[in-house]
Amino acid sequence: MQRFSAQQRNIAYRIEESTTYSKWKDWKWQLKHSIKDLDKFQYLTGIKFAENEIPALQKTLEKFPLSITPYYASLIDFNNFQYDPVFKQSFADPRELTIDRSELSDPLAEDKDCPVEGITHRYPDRVLFHVSNVCSMYCRHCTRKRKVGDVDFVPSKSQLIKGIEYIRKTPTVRDVLLSGGDPLMLSDNMIDWLLGEISAIRHVEVIRIGTRMPVVLPFRITDELLEILKKYQPLWINTHFNHPRELTFSARTALAKLADAGFPLGNQSVLLADVNDCPKIMKSLVHKLVQNRVRPYYLYQCDLSEGLSHFRTPIGKGIEIMESLIGHTSGFAIPRYVIDAPGGGGKIPIMPNYIISWSTNKVVLRNYEGVLTTYKEPDSYEPRFCDRDCEKCDLELNLEASAETEAIGIEKLLSDSDKSISLIPKGNERMERRTDG
Ligand SMILES: *Cc1c(COP(=O)(O)O)cnc(C)c1O
Ligand code: SF4
Repeated sequence: MQRFSAQQRNIAYRIEESTTYSKWKDWKWQLKHSIKDLDKFQYLTGIKFAENEIPALQKTLEKFPLSITPYYASLIDFNNFQYDPVFKQSFADPRELTIDRSELSDPLAEDKDCPVEGITHRYPDRVLFHVSNVCSMYCRHCTRKRKVGDVDFVPSKSQLIKGIEYIRKTPTVRDVLLSGGDPLMLSDNMIDWLLGEISAIRHVEVIRIGTRMPVVLPFRITDELLEILKKYQPLWINTHFNHPRELTFSARTALAKLADAGFPLGNQSVLLADVNDCPKIMKSLVHKLVQNRVRPYYLYQCDLSEGLSHFRTPIGKGIEIMESLIGHTSGFAIPRYVIDAPGGGGKIPIMPNYIISWSTNKVVLRNYEGVLTTYKEPDSYEPRFCDRDCEKCDLELNLEASAETEAIGIEKLLSDSDKSISLIPKGNERMERRTDG
C-alpha cells in the first residue's frame, strides 16, 4: 500500500492532525485544503519568505490568484525551492506584474473567434469549449491567466447549453475539445450530463478532454469518474506534464487507470525558462510519458500572455530541443513543437530544417547525425489534374458529399481546382495602390 512521503506527512498533519492517507487521497479533501494564501503556504511548507519580499508577493496574488493542492505542494523540494520546477509552476513570482510591450491579455484572440460564450471556433472542423473557469492548481504560466480563477465560477447548465446548441447547429464540427479552466473540476454528474449531450450530436465524432488533474490532483481520477467517462468513447484525454519530477507514483497510478480504461492519452507541455528548457529534461520527460502510455502531443512555445515574460525562451531553444529528440529517440515520443499564433492564427509547427537544397530532380537532405543524403525524384511523374470532380477521377475516393470541403489557405494555392495564385493580406499597400490607379 502506498503511504505518505515525509513531506506529505508534514503537510497533512499540519492541515489536520488526524489526516490519514486515505483522506489525503480524497480529491475533495485536497480541494478543500488547497493553499490559497501566503501564510498558509509558509505554514504548511515551512518555507519562510523575507519580510521585504512579502508586499510584492501579496500584490502579485491580488492580480493572479494562488491555488496549490496540498499534493502538488508536497512535490516541491523545500530545501531548494528557489530552483524547484514545481515551485516555479505553482507559486507566485513578482515578475508576473511586469507587462512586456508585446504582451496581450488575450494573445490568441480566443474571445474574438467566439460565436457564443464559452466556444472558440477557430479551425474548420473542431471547437474549443471552455466548460469551467477554475483549476485545482493555478499554473503561473497559464495562457488564460487573466480569466482562469478571475471569478471562481463553474458555469451552470444553462450557460453550457448555449455552447451545446452551437455545436448542434454547426454540422462541420466533428471534434469537440473540452477545456477551461479544468473540465474535471465539474462534478461527476455534470460531466456525465455534458458528455451525454455532446456525444448525442450526430456529427460529433470525437470528444477530447484537456485536464491537468493527473499532474496536480491525480486522485480526481476515481473509479466512479472512469465509469462515467467510459460511456462516451471515443474520448481522448490530453494532460499537461512539464517536468519528469511530476510523474510520481500517484500520477502514474492515475495515468494507468485512464489507459486501462481505454482512453488514448496525450500530453501538452509548455516550454518554460528555468523549468524545462533543457534537452535532457525534455528527453527524460518524454521517455517517462511513453513508459506510462502517454503520447507527447504538443510542446508549446510560451504564449505572449501578460506577465509571462520571465517564462519565455527564444524559439531557438525549442528548435534545439526538437533537434535533440528527432532521430535520437522513438518517433512516438516526440511532440510537435508549435507556436500558437498571436492574433488567433492557430498552432504553427516549427522544426529544424532537414532540406538542404533542391534541383529539378534531386533533393539534398540531412539526417539527425548531420549525414548529407540525396533523394532522387522520379524522372517521369504525370501530375494528376484535380478539379475535385471525384466521380470522374480514377483514384477511388468515395467521400460522402458532406465530407467534401473547399480547399482553404495554402492548400488552395496548391490545388488545381482553384484559380487563386496568391494570398494577399488585407491592407497590403502595394495592392491598395493598384486599386487607386
Ligand atoms: C489547440 C486548439 C484546438 C485543437 O487543435 P489540434 O491541433 O486539433 O489539437 C482547437 N481549437 C483551438 C482554439 C485551439 O487552440
Ligand atoms: S491547468 Fe491549464 S487552464 Fe488551469 S491554470 Fe493550469 S494552464 Fe491554466
